Amino acid sequence: MAKRIVWILLFALPFAGEAQKKSKPVFDRIEPAFWWVGMKNKELQILFYNKDTNIGDYDASLTYAGVSIKEKIKVENPHYLFLTLQIGEQAKAGSVPIQFKSGKKNFSVLYELKNKATAKNRIQGFNASDVLYLIMPDRFANGDVKNDSLPGFYQGVHRDQPFGRHGGDLKGIADHLDFIADLGVTTLWLNPILENNQKRESYHGYAITDFYKVDARFGSNEEYVALIEKCHARGIKMVQDMVINHMGNFNWLMLDLPEKNWVHQFPEFTRSNYRSEVVSDPYQSKEDLNKMTNGWFDYTMPDINQNNPLFANFLIQNTLWWIEYAGIDGIRMDTYPYPDRDFMARWAQEVLAEYPQFNIVGEVLVNSKPMVGYWQQGAANRDGYQSHLPSVIDFPLTNAINAGLNEKGSWDGGLARLYTTLSHDFIYPDANNNVTFLDNHDMSRYFHNMGRDMNKFKMGLVFLLTTRGIPQLYYGTELLMDGNYSIHPTVRMDVPGGWAEDKVNQFVRTGRSKEQNEAYDFMSKLLQWRKTKTVIHQGKLTHFIPEDNVYVYFRTKESETVMVLMNGNDHDMKVNTARFSECMKGKTSAQNVLTGETTQNMKEIMLPAMAAIILELK
Ligand code: CA
Repeated sequence: MAKRIVWILLFALPFAGEAQKKSKPVFDRIEPAFWWVGMKNKELQILFYNKDTNIGDYDASLTYAGVSIKEKIKVENPHYLFLTLQIGEQAKAGSVPIQFKSGKKNFSVLYELKNKATAKNRIQGFNASDVLYLIMPDRFANGDVKNDSLPGFYQGVHRDQPFGRHGGDLKGIADHLDFIADLGVTTLWLNPILENNQKRESYHGYAITDFYKVDARFGSNEEYVALIEKCHARGIKMVQDMVINHMGNFNWLMLDLPEKNWVHQFPEFTRSNYRSEVVSDPYQSKEDLNKMTNGWFDYTMPDINQNNPLFANFLIQNTLWWIEYAGIDGIRMDTYPYPDRDFMARWAQEVLAEYPQFNIVGEVLVNSKPMVGYWQQGAANRDGYQSHLPSVIDFPLTNAINAGLNEKGSWDGGLARLYTTLSHDFIYPDANNNVTFLDNHDMSRYFHNMGRDMNKFKMGLVFLLTTRGIPQLYYGTELLMDGNYSIHPTVRMDVPGGWAEDKVNQFVRTGRSKEQNEAYDFMSKLLQWRKTKTVIHQGKLTHFIPEDNVYVYFRTKESETVMVLMNGNDHDMKVNTARFSECMKGKTSAQNVLTGETTQNMKEIMLPAMAAIILELK
């Protein structure tokens, strides 16, 4: 009996193998893996890849109501085949059978078309009613030690290495949503969470190796969606950090490029000159522009050629896929001036055509208002360029805050820097849609820049959270982290308490110092107040030329008036309010937002040294 079973198995195995070969989907990659019916853009380009088969030699056909193959594209690498499907209005969700045939060989795959999700709180966009909270996922909290070191990944966890992976993950963020919600921020921006299976410094996330997959050391795609749903249920939005200028050199596409020109190739390694001004420079040389936009970001970060039409479509669809799949509310796009600028305009236009309620902020890392303004949708650029990008990251204002709070008052120094910088807002088509901030992962911590002075620290926060724009805070600001970017891992420190082995837990009051609780409470009070103040989100901004390093501005909307007074001196100041009458409109009393006190004397207001006060006028 036993012998017969063995005989049958031996005999049957080869047949089972043949059968499997015929029916098994033979692709190593199908990207996107699925799509949706009811999208405004009716075309879908699908990448099929098999690393061992000349799939490019196959013909493809399908029969499915409302769906047809518009184009079949074979590229120089025969391991790839690209199909462009036309998905008509009448197409219903379901599995589309696609037949592949080459001579006598044939097989089929089922390609899934889903219905779009209909939950109301997905894909909301973000605006000046929000405050973004930037988290470096590897450094916030380790919610799952099982994903720390995984087979198939070059890097595991080494917490002792400043440039190594520390083990933070999506579960760590999900576990600390109370801390985030209590602080009062409304939106998360995570540094990129897609796979970075690189040999070195993979923790920061900006060298993507799989455009369709969350890094397994952070969690799965499903965990990412679950985190977003959990956030949405609590009224917290999600902004996804994306990178389409470059990718990791271990990206699976790099290891077997569809076409050589999917990345910019040079006879020898050629680095970007990182000079963003070249792109908008009326006197630019072709040499400089070529290096700027086509040079590699680093040896490990090849430069994507967005002029390759297939890769261009791939990148746009990848963005749409993440929006529809995960329900994200916005995008922060990395290194905005570095990719081909016409492609970026097309990208933004197509994303916003599909999701008009969406918002996208682009990183234009320069200390120049005209250069940042150039990239915002609606800019009156002399060269006619229209970016279609709604929001830009406002580096010039950050620099003005960091300099101005550390200087004595003068014609253009001290708080006059804030005034002057905002007075140049005519350069921005929509300054209130700029993302404003005190620091981020690429610069010294704000508390460090304020010389660890708590009064200055608070004053800058009041300004950030009451002037125009969409404020962004960096995790750890509320814990008075004080890293110096000249030793740059120090600005990307782990939150104590995020790891089980940590001796203190700063996610809870009892684990924080008195000063840290003071910072957290101050920020929380301000952020919770800001949440419902449409006068801050949308109100008109009127400011007055600083006198004696005292800067006064108003936000007004209908009957609401908020007055902010900043004193940049190291002594108290008495402010006569006569010159502000156009905004005060005879109002005679006010409530101090931070202390709760009522002020009856509005003719003269006392300002403590190096402090800002917020008054709601009655
Ligand atoms: Ca982990």
